[in-house]
Amino acid sequence: MKTVTLWCQAGKHEWERQSQRGRRPLNCPEHSVEADTTGASVEKIKGNLDALEKARAVKVQRAQEREAENIANRERIANEAREKVPVVQAQFDEARQAEQKAFTKWDKIKPGSLKYEAAQEAWEAAANKTDRILTRLMSLTTVARTAA
Ligand SMILES: [Zn+2]
Repeated sequence: MKTVTLWCQAGKHEWERQSQRGRRPLNCPEHSVEADTTGASVEKIKGNLDALEKARAVKVQRAQEREAENIANRERIANEAREKVPVVQAQFDEARQAEQKAFTKWDKIKPGSLKYEAAQEAWEAAANKTDRILTRLMSLTTVARTAA
């Protein structure tokens, strides 16, 4: 039997089939959709594309909303930090003064006594407190500087 070379529109390639009567198909069997001839599948594909497009638009909108939320959150956190900085700064000043006092007290006591040990512990505790507050103050200051 004679074969003819046809063009497959869907697959964009040549293909061959045995010569036969009737309308030439638009697509090869591999790429043909049975309902193409009725146009139903075209509608279906368009519907699917519309649905995809809508889903994509929703996705983009959600991403924008999330981004706006993130920006608002960062600003809120930065604002909170800015409000806290002076409070923690005051706590730090207080802790540093307490530490200085504890050190002076310990420094006046003769080594080797029970009082000396206790005063040293008190000074170390005061120094640790100052360090903790300083760490907090530094991180708050960093956060406060992040947003505009
Ligand atoms: Zn094809």
